[in-house]
Amino acid sequence: MPEMPEMENYRRLITDQILDVPITNVIVNREKSINIEQDIFISELLNTRVIFIERRGKYLNFHLNNGRRLLVHLMLGGLIFVGKNEDLPQRNTQVEISFGETTLYFMGLRLGYVHLLSAKEVEQVLGQLGPEVTDRRMNSERFLNIVNGRRGALKTLLVNQNVIAGIGNRYADEIAFEARLLPSAKVQDLEPEAIERLYVSTKSVLSKAVEAGGYIDTPVTKDDSHTGSYKSEFKVYDREGELCPQCGGIVVKVELNSKKTFYCPTCQHEQ
Ligand SMILES: [Zn+2]
Repeated sequence: MPEMPEMENYRRLITDQILDVPITNVIVNREKSINIEQDIFISELLNTRVIFIERRGKYLNFHLNNGRRLLVHLMLGGLIFVGKNEDLPQRNTQVEISFGETTLYFMGLRLGYVHLLSAKEVEQVLGQLGPEVTDRRMNSERFLNIVNGRRGALKTLLVNQNVIAGIGNRYADEIAFEARLLPSAKVQDLEPEAIERLYVSTKSVLSKAVEAGGYIDTPVTKDDSHTGSYKSEFKVYDREGELCPQCGGIVVKVELNSKKTFYCPTCQHEQ
């Protein structure tokens, strides 16, 4: 599932290609992927322009010049490609939005969606999300306040979108490894020093993953060889039985609140 770094990578690559260009064509191949009647969806989008693409958590929010918004969530397995039809990978598309010669293709949308909404409706969805750790306004003190008063396993806290937005199963394990904390560490018992380490690690893992184009290595544009470079950087996620890059011990896999969880029992602790 795409998490914050993957969505941020999409935002950057898409913005370059479609901003301020009028929408010339819309194709809906799967009506379940949109939220209103197909004809209305298409006619409302035609001739509008995207003036800004915002990312919040795992959402992309396309601001249209008529004040409407396109809210995109890829859920499990959704992908975006931007470019010309002849460059499109051999995949079924659910929604296609053309900006002259360039088309935005949405693929793999099963639970994922492209919803046309008002600014207010979008605010109702995004308003539920917790803050972004990579946001300029975030700092150690604010992060400490977010964690303080919470209870339960560290990983469960990290993937809770209402507490902190954008982190999913994969990056939560990488962040816990980087912070040298067990995914099962009890949040209520963490010392301020451990919470500070968690804050620094969260910022660092997410920022590095964004710069590396995330872990999903399906190209977003025709000549894109950068997207997915973080795939080889995972230290513990999906590395059960492999050597820990830090200590040479063996990476372990467990189920934590029914989520696949990977960690190094030597490097990671309760504090
Ligand atoms: Zn280790």
